[in-house]
Amino acid sequence: MGKPLMRIPYTDVLPAPTIRPPSAGTFTGALAALHDFFAAPARGGLPASTAVLTGAGLSVASGLADYRGTNGTYRVNKTYRPIYYHEFLASHEARKRYWARSYLGWSALHKAQPNAGHHAVGDLGRLGLVSGVITQNVDSFHAKAHPEIPTLELHGYLRSTICTSCWNEFPREAFQDQLAKLNPLWAAFLLEAMASGALDTEDPAEKRARGIRMNPDGDVEVPEAPYTTFRYPACPTCLTSPPPLADGTKVVVEVDRDGAWSPASNAGILKPAVVMFGESISHRVKHEAEEAIDGAGRLLVLATSLATYSAWRLAKRAKDRGMPIAIVNMGGVRGEDAFFAGLDPQQLGGQGLRVEMSTESLLPALAAELRRCGFRGTSSPLPTGANAGVAQLNQSDSAAPFKDMLS
Ligand SMILES: [Zn+2]
Repeated sequence: MGKPLMRIPYTDVLPAPTIRPPSAGTFTGALAALHDFFAAPARGGLPASTAVLTGAGLSVASGLADYRGTNGTYRVNKTYRPIYYHEFLASHEARKRYWARSYLGWSALHKAQPNAGHHAVGDLGRLGLVSGVITQNVDSFHAKAHPEIPTLELHGYLRSTICTSCWNEFPREAFQDQLAKLNPLWAAFLLEAMASGALDTEDPAEKRARGIRMNPDGDVEVPEAPYTTFRYPACPTCLTSPPPLADGTKVVVEVDRDGAWSPASNAGILKPAVVMFGESISHRVKHEAEEAIDGAGRLLVLATSLATYSAWRLAKRAKDRGMPIAIVNMGGVRGEDAFFAGLDPQQLGGQGLRVEMSTESLLPALAAELRRCGFRGTSSPLPTGANAGVAQLNQSDSAAPFKDMLS
């Protein structure tokens, strides 16, 4: 099984990229290089299919916050520091603060939709070029944009909560309704903020002027908000039938008269079904991510600085297997020069490429060009297990807004 793989933010400033091949500095040059990347014969013994690895930059065009600015510096919002798993587990106060901010952030995430970049990944899949997607994003946009292509959600997903005692999952939308009932003043504030458009505006300055700050992973900051009065529900399963604790401790799950988790409890704490910073990725997801790399012959890295080790190591694994790597990202990528070591200086993209452009304009143009010239790959989607790590969304619910993110 190997060592646990913990999600840790990497905060160093990343150097600006070297564009490869040099002709890929223009839009048409970048398209030509990507065309060459997909058209080049598979390297000895490797399959022709491409695995795609994506990050937060892909969802920026959907209105979601990224962890980094385009110059590669960490934290667009300098004062933002994500909560760590151990803090969340240890502190009732930290959980109140987390859920209060997440309560406000959910409405913006709930309304957000996949953008042209996600849909273009779907187009590349339909051209037979993509075997599977590994994403670090927790917004479920890949599964929503291209449900027919397997997506492994490396860092989990916000569409569910999960109990830290019994590990049952619950839909986030119903949880949101419970938070509203337990926190009527916050619910009123949220309605007001939504009515004023403060949560809709794309302009960070305007958001700040309205007293709101948006952060990654559905976090919203309201300066001087009374987080300490916020209430959150207990796990309904643990409340009715508490599981035994491993060390034989008596399990206590208590709620107040409205159903809010009481600090007299020692279990039944719900967390978002994301891998929080400082939390380990499950062995199953880690293994499936490795299988997705090992089942492909190329790696397309989209809109991520590979700042988390869990993602970086997958690119490293691809390089070690001799897979050509294409990186499309605004700003630097962690240790990227090593991914292009040994490339023929005359190559045009087939051995690897580095482009610094936004995915939502480049990828649709690429898919359109490949379609126009009748390009077809041979890849059929990777056979992957039907499990929680691979997004298997309920298509019958897809008509309802965001419903299909909740199954
Ligand atoms: Zn539980």
